[in-house]
Amino acid sequence: VEFKHQIYKHLVSLPGWKTDRHILVLESDDWGSIRMPSEKVYDILQKPLSIQPDDIYNKVDSLETSDDLVALYDVLRSFKDFNGRCPVITAIAVVANPDFDKIRQSGYNEYSFETITRTFDRYPACHDSFALWKEGIKNSLFMPQFHGREHLNVRAWMKALYNDHAKTRLAFDHQMWGFSTQADPAINLEFQAAFDMRDRSDLESQKEIIPSGLALFEELFGYKAMYFVPPNGPLSSILEPICHNGGIRYLSTSTLSKEPKGNGRSRYKISWLGKENRSKLICLVRNCFFEPCHEGKNWINSCLDDVSYAFSWHKPAIVSMHRANFSGSINEKNRKNSLQQLKFLLNEILHRWPDTEFMTSEELGKLISISKMNG
Ligand SMILES: [Zn+2]
Repeated sequence: VEFKHQIYKHLVSLPGWKTDRHILVLESDDWGSIRMPSEKVYDILQKPLSIQPDDIYNKVDSLETSDDLVALYDVLRSFKDFNGRCPVITAIAVVANPDFDKIRQSGYNEYSFETITRTFDRYPACHDSFALWKEGIKNSLFMPQFHGREHLNVRAWMKALYNDHAKTRLAFDHQMWGFSTQADPAINLEFQAAFDMRDRSDLESQKEIIPSGLALFEELFGYKAMYFVPPNGPLSSILEPICHNGGIRYLSTSTLSKEPKGNGRSRYKISWLGKENRSKLICLVRNCFFEPCHEGKNWINSCLDDVSYAFSWHKPAIVSMHRANFSGSINEKNRKNSLQQLKFLLNEILHRWPDTEFMTSEELGKLISISKMNG
C-alpha cells in the first residue's frame, strides 16, 4: 500500500505548473466561522447529535480568540525567509454567520445572517479578534481569502429548521449547525458544505450568496477576494462564472474532485496546479498537509515528506491546514501543541531548504497567471 501511495503521489505531481523556486504557501481554512460555540455546548450536544469522539472539529474548533491570534502571530513572526519575509497564513475565511435571533423571530421562515464583526462582538474572548485580523493583514502575517459567505448550506439548513428536524433545532438552540448530516436521509448533505446541492433549484440561492459574500468581504477588508476555497469542496461549475464576475481568479480544487449535479448525481473532475478551467479560473491544488489537531500521526515528518516531494517535482508546496489546529478556547493544549509543531516544521523547512520563499495563495496565483501569459 505504501508503495502504491508513493507512486500515486508522484503521478499527481507530474502535470501542471512548475518552478525551480522553493515556494511555501500556508493555507488555513474556516476562520470566522462559529463551529462549536463552547465546551459547554459540546457537552450538551455530543450525545444527542451523535458527535463521534474522533470528530476533532466539533471537539476543539471554535471561533478564534484574541489569545489564539496573538499566539499564532508570535510563532509566524519568529521566522524569516531569505528575503526577510515572515511566514504568512492565507486565512480562508467566511464573512458571516447565521443571525439566530432573527431566524427564530421569523418562525424559521426567513434566513438572516450577521457579519463576523458582530459574531466576534458576541463572544467576550473574541472582542479584539477582528482588530487582530486587520493587524495581521497590515503586517503580512494573515491574509484572508474567500471560504464563502457562511460555512453553511443555507437552503438545506432552513428547510430542516422549518420542518422541525429535531437535531437541527436542538443544535440551533445552542447556536450550532456543524454536526454531520450527510447520512441523514432527511438532509442528505453536510450542512457545512455551503455549495453542495440536492436539486438544481438550490443553485438559485447560491447564485445570490456568492456575490453577497464577496461584496461583504470587500467591505470588511478593503480589498477584493481573488481566491476561493469552496467549503468542504462541492461547487457547481455553473457558479464559477459568478465567482469570476465577483473578482475571483483562483479556485482551490483537489486532484480528483466531485462536482454536484443535483438529484444525487455528481461528476468527477481532474485538476492540476495552474489548470485554467472553462470559467477562466486558475486551479490551485494543495499538495501538503499539516493537521496536528488530529493526534496519532507524526505531522512534522509527513508534512516534510510532502514538501520534499513537491520541491523534487519542481512544484510549490501548498500546505493545507485548518483553524481547528490553532483554536484554543475549548482546549488550550490543542493550540499550544499545534503551534509548537508548526515551529518545528518551519524551522526544519528553512534548515533543509534555506532558499524557501513564503508566499500567499494570491501571490502564487498571480505568479502562475503571469508565467502562463508569457507562454
Ligand atoms: Zn472549511
